[in-house]
Amino acid sequence: MGSSADEAARGNDPDLPMRGVAQPTRGEALALPGLHVSRHPIVASKLTELRDVATPPARFAALVREIGAFLAYEATADLETEPWEIQTPLEPFAGQRLAPGLGVAPILRAGLGMAEGFRQVAPEAQVWHLGLRRDEATLRPVQYYSQLARATHLRACYVVDPMLATGGSAIDALDLLVAHGVPRLRFIALLAVPYGLVALRRAHPQVPIYVAAVDERLDERGYIRPGLGDAGDRQFNTFEML
Ligand code: URA
Repeated sequence: MGSSADEAARGNDPDLPMRGVAQPTRGEALALPGLHVSRHPIVASKLTELRDVATPPARFAALVREIGAFLAYEATADLETEPWEIQTPLEPFAGQRLAPGLGVAPILRAGLGMAEGFRQVAPEAQVWHLGLRRDEATLRPVQYYSQLARATHLRACYVVDPMLATGGSAIDALDLLVAHGVPRLRFIALLAVPYGLVALRRAHPQVPIYVAAVDERLDERGYIRPGLGDAGDRQFNTFEML
């Protein structure tokens, strides 16, 4: 039988929100198929500034957009293009452009800054905001805001949310997009923990996951550690010191 210190190290703490479920290790998470962790030194440097409690909200929001753009660049490397004939100043040119039907779905509200970063990389992307909450009785996702019913020609969609913590919102958002028939789905976060990664991988085994870093664990309040605090509050200046 493991000591209580071993239990705590694995996160198997009865006070955790995911009571009774051991948190996987970082090593286990990093071995998950379809997980892409950025190795870009500029991302690592910006992420450190983002974590810093001394980083003010306006700079924090700018960093979310900037890192969001870098991750979008990495995550869109396999997007389809279609032929596009243009004229250079000298002669005709058979070029290419992004195939239509690209979407980004920010989970409200913290995903908004990442969607802005995504649009810096792919301005042609449609933005489909998703407001989600869980029905306490059925545990099914309930949309409190979505215009997805109007999204009739989405061929690829990137769900963006800065923090993959328990994985609940990410799974719910992807469930909705699957139900809507969107064929090609991706998920992008700034920070993830093993618990959320394993949960998301189980629920959506085929969806590639792009993150800037994988942190150690969830704490007893559901915060990512070492983390950066509340990504929504820090972007929108509603942050209180923890
Ligand atoms: N959401 C946040 O904003 N921060 C965390 O640490 C976990 C979830």
